[in-house]
Amino acid sequence: MKKETRHLLLNPGPVTTSDQVKRAQVIPDKSPREKEFQQLITKVSSMISGIAATSDRYQTILFGGSGTAAVEAIISSTVGDGHLCVINNGVYGARMLEMAKAYGISVAEYKSPLDKPIKITELEQFMNKQKTAITHLAVVYHETSTGLLNDIESLSRLCKSNNISLLVDAVSAFGAIPIDMEKWKVSFMAGSANKNIQGLPGISFVIGAKDEFEKLKKVKAKNYYLNLYDQYLHFETFDLFRFTPPVQTLYALNTALEELMEEGVDKRYERYIRCWNLLTNGLKKLGLNLVVAPKHHSKLVSAVYEPTNKSYHFEKMHEYLKQHGITIYKGKLAPANSFRIANIGDITEKDIQHFLHVMEKYLHTI
Ligand SMILES: *Cc1c(COP(=O)(O)O)cnc(C)c1O
Repeated sequence: MKKETRHLLLNPGPVTTSDQVKRAQVIPDKSPREKEFQQLITKVSSMISGIAATSDRYQTILFGGSGTAAVEAIISSTVGDGHLCVINNGVYGARMLEMAKAYGISVAEYKSPLDKPIKITELEQFMNKQKTAITHLAVVYHETSTGLLNDIESLSRLCKSNNISLLVDAVSAFGAIPIDMEKWKVSFMAGSANKNIQGLPGISFVIGAKDEFEKLKKVKAKNYYLNLYDQYLHFETFDLFRFTPPVQTLYALNTALEELMEEGVDKRYERYIRCWNLLTNGLKKLGLNLVVAPKHHSKLVSAVYEPTNKSYHFEKMHEYLKQHGITIYKGKLAPANSFRIANIGDITEKDIQHFLHVMEKYLHTI
């Protein structure tokens, strides 16, 4: 079969996908209320749950919408009249804070440096100082804006000893970085189809233990479309979305998950790490440095300090790379003088070599 045109997306999602994933969308028109689609939902959900936990108590509730929809479903459905603490050490932490404020949720912001690990004892002191007891703690597993990997295991111990529910945005970690929701006692975790799973954009999901979902019956959600308990009930009762699902995207997600199972989550992370090692060594040779030190790095997405050369312009570099079939992303970033390169998706070391080669050529032009 003819190969599809391939763009190398080195932006942090949506990622480069395989031809099989792209083609999986082309199916005869289908009503999502038919049995075969219900079976597909069940299969996709259980493949995802299996990545997060081994116990079959864990369930995955899908939503039509990008990763933000799943994060927002968690924030707006689980805190209720409780008091939320959000760890803000990057753009995605800040986004959860904005969500909480938009829904009028009682929230405290714990600010932590963009490029350093969270100081757990300081965080504990901060939470203990609150006038109202903290009931939920929200954190981003992999802060995609910098590449900083937060230590969920330490945070989970803190939450356990203080009887706090841990809410995790794992959108850019899921499918590559190991996750053990059961061991870490994470109440709810958000993920999406179009990052390390290598599916197409349009579906996101929330994973949690069945008893955690059941507890939501007593929590007054502040939303409608993103109501996690109602979506859970629909999945439980009818194996259905509450509203029209992105049917074709779900077929692509199924294929992407099959490919992930075939490669293995560990092996996928190893492939990404090989790409990252090659990438960062190459960047270093070109005089470009990372914002976050390797020790605390996800090795999936890197914020890179911009060249200091006066004739450097991000837009020009972006355009130059684009002409060579490569897309990178700046985004609304702190620190301001950085850009991002992601090494996730259906890519190999050959693609990274190509990128480095083009980058070197670009740097000679400035
Ligand atoms: C990509 C991402 C999201 C979701 O962003 P969308 O634009 O909605 O896909 C949420 N959190 C993190 C950490 C992410 O990397």
